[in-house]
Amino acid sequence: MAGAAEERGPGPAEGEQLQEQHVACQVFPERLADGKPGQGFLSSFFTSNQKCQLMLLKTLETNPYVKLLLDAMKHSGCAVNKERHFSCEDCNGNVSGGFDASTSQIVLCQNNIRNQSHMNRVVTHELVHAFDHCRAHVNWFTDLRHLACSEVRAANLSGDCSLVNEIFRLHFGLKQHHQTCVRDRAILSILAVRNISKEVAQKAVDEVFESCFNDHEPFGRIPHNKTYARYAHRDFQNRDRYYSNI
Ligand SMILES: [Zn+2]
Repeated sequence: MAGAAEERGPGPAEGEQLQEQHVACQVFPERLADGKPGQGFLSSFFTSNQKCQLMLLKTLETNPYVKLLLDAMKHSGCAVNKERHFSCEDCNGNVSGGFDASTSQIVLCQNNIRNQSHMNRVVTHELVHAFDHCRAHVNWFTDLRHLACSEVRAANLSGDCSLVNEIFRLHFGLKQHHQTCVRDRAILSILAVRNISKEVAQKAVDEVFESCFNDHEPFGRIPHNKTYARYAHRDFQNRDRYYSNI
């Protein structure tokens, strides 16, 4: 994952970026007519979009983190539709994905998502934002602590820190590394989408960290790997059945 520019988080700047990209798509055929980008560019464009769609389909059908989040969204009355709520697009910089709160759409950056496991993590991360958007009235634009809380949860629950965590545990035995990783990533995610100082972002994350780090919904635990996520999914299904029988 690529640090500060990792994601295009929820926010008005994101909507502007989307509009710019749509404009770029509109002028794209004229550029082709001029013969500038050429056939190779056209075929690689479609290939990356098709690859993105195929990886997304596999993620939605097989990844236990994503399956749990989709079930939880449905349970909360926010059923997710692949065609309506996901969009594979080319993005600027190192951005991997984003949640557009104004349209409730997850953007997947087809030019930057490298492989299936990267796709799994990006979709999981953005679905945590979508889940928060669904279950609570999140003031993405007016209350920095709301954004900070969702970024802490997304970093904690998506596996963004788990791979690194495993390596550090193996080599250095640092118990606190997961917390440090989550805090750092949440700060970087905020800085990627808000024009504020690092100190202000750190303060917002620190204010909400304890309660948001310990809020594991809908997983019920920190899913450090796919096995944990599968257990969490099973528990959620049982819980769902239990409540629906009351
Ligand atoms: Zn995020």
